[in-house]
Parts: sequence; structure tokens; C-alpha cells
Amino acid sequence: MTEARHFPVFDVRPDDAYIAGWHEHIRSTGYPETYDRVSTIHPHDLEGVIMLSGEIEVPVLRRVDQLFVPCPLCSPNSPRFKRGRMAYLPLERIVICMGHDCARRHMGEEYVVAETRFRQEAKVRSTLAIWADVQMIVPKVREIAASLMPFAAGIEAAKLSLAKEAAGFLAFLRDELLSNGGRITEVVDTGLREQTRSGKRGKKVFDTVQHGTLVGAAFLDSVRPATQLRRALRHLVDADQPLPVWKASDEDTGRLEDILQRGREVIQAVKQVKATRDHIADARLFLHENNLSLFEKWGELDSSPFQRLSFKRKGSWISPITCALRRLMAKTCSTSQMPWAIPASG
Ligand SMILES: [Zn+2]
Repeated sequence: MTEARHFPVFDVRPDDAYIAGWHEHIRSTGYPETYDRVSTIHPHDLEGVIMLSGEIEVPVLRRVDQLFVPCPLCSPNSPRFKRGRMAYLPLERIVICMGHDCARRHMGEEYVVAETRFRQEAKVRSTLAIWADVQMIVPKVREIAASLMPFAAGIEAAKLSLAKEAAGFLAFLRDELLSNGGRITEVVDTGLREQTRSGKRGKKVFDTVQHGTLVGAAFLDSVRPATQLRRALRHLVDADQPLPVWKASDEDTGRLEDILQRGREVIQAVKQVKATRDHIADARLFLHENNLSLFEKWGELDSSPFQRLSFKRKGSWISPITCALRRLMAKTCSTSQMPWAIPASG
């Protein structure tokens, strides 16, 4: 049994340099409990606990006895864990390293609060670390968003007006399209028959013909690309402003929340522009002549749900003139001369 260490000297939580040194000490020795001013006594007051690390894999093979690490919470005098966490107990003014499970098990509600705070702090650190890079790429992202806007607006208008004219048609078409990965196949009678042993004519032989694969399913979903881009652009403007200066020891959580929210919005906006760009690229494939022809080919097949499916082309405008959905009681919906207003592909 080793002698308990007790260093009630931390009036405030230790700084980042201290924690970095602790990590290094653990890596090189396998002894979390022997680092500078780390306590090993069993603490009594866990209120306001602050997690100083995530789960740390202690290299216990480096320890002289190669045994696990004692845990101040549940087992101060005997080997207990090899995955641990660092914590600061403000009322006891100590720092400890305890088993990672024990924190959850012994701290109850205090643990939930501390864990939430720990994750927030980790997120703030990572946001601050990448902010300079984010600020560098944002002007380019804004440029891309602005250049995508006419396409996004055209597709969105087209989707909205088709949805108004033929409610449910887009979703139906999309489900049909995606159900087979867009592959259009036809089972044909080859006119041949299987040979049986007795020489009698056997079953008919069928073959599957591949007609192609439909693309552009994004055109048929309910995503509104222009609305998305406008929202993203609003948040991207915010990236010009520096984030507040933040320290883990800040009592006031205002700055932490500000960084979290702004970081989340700007990073999300960058991702959104990229996703919208991909969406537009896919949606535009729908309007490609080959794709529309394949749709019409599909409409002619016995296996399709349509009695007839054709698109009227007019410059960069198309309109489905007739779609009769066999499954929907051959109800005919007609939308003529609808403005798709898709800008010419660039
Ligand atoms: Zn424990």
C-alpha cells in the first residue's frame, strides 16, 4: 500500500500547460498518480467537479508492478483501472485521476453536468483551433454559393411548381427511381425453351435487358437548395468577425456559448454549401436529354408503373405532359408548359 497523497492547493482549476504535462507524465511513466500535486486520497465532496480530460489509456505495463492504477473514488489502495480520467474537485481543491467508469457511477448528476461541460470545452478548443483556416476559406465558399444561386433558385422554383401541380408525383417518381437504384431493366421472352431430359419442351427462357440507369434523384426530393444557400450565406458573413477570447477558467459561460454557436453555424454553412453544390449537380443530371429519354423508355415498359410518361422540352424548359400512374388507378395528371427556368449548364 502506497501512502496517500493529498495536495489541497488548487484554488482554481489547473491550466492547460499543467494538464499537457500530466498527459506526458502518464505516457512516459504509466503513473497518473505521481504527477505534480496529484492527490490520491478518497475525496468526499464531488460537487462542481470539472473533468480535465477524456478517457486516457494508461500504459500500465510501464508500472513497476505492471498492475492497474488505484482509483481515489472506489479503490484508493489497490489496483483498479487502466482507463482513467483527470478531474478537478473545486471544493476539495484537489486534482485526481480516477477510473473512467467510476466517474459515471459515483458522481451521478454531477457527472452529467461535468461531462456536458467537458464536451463543450473540447468543442470550443477545436473550433478555436480551426477558426483561422475557416476564415481563409469562407470568401471562396461565399463566391461559390453566390455562383450557385441562380441554379439553386431555378431548381427550387421548378420543384415547388411541380409539387403544386402534381402533388405527390415527385415523391412517387423518386421512390420508384430509387427502389432499383435507378436501373431500368426489362425481362424479355427469348423465344427459347429449356431442354428437358426426355426431350420435351421445357419452361420458357427469359432474359433481363439493361436499358440504363436513371440519375438526378435530387431533382425529385423536397430539398430547397436556394433556401439552404441563403441561410448558409447569412451565417458565412459572420465568419469575418473574430471569435471572443476564451479561457477554460472563465466563470461566465457567455463566451463559450457564443463560440459554440457561431462556430457551429459557420462550419455548418460551409458544409451546407458543399452539400447544396452536390445536390444541384445531381438535380441537373435529371434534365439531361439522355436521362429524360430513358425515363420515357421506362414509361413504355410493361414493368413500369406508368401507362405513359413523356416530357415536353422547350429550350431549357421541360414539362411532363402526361403521366398516368397505373398504380394510382391510372389517374392522369397533366402539367403543361411549366417553367423550369434552369439556367444553361455552365
Ligand atoms: Zn473507481
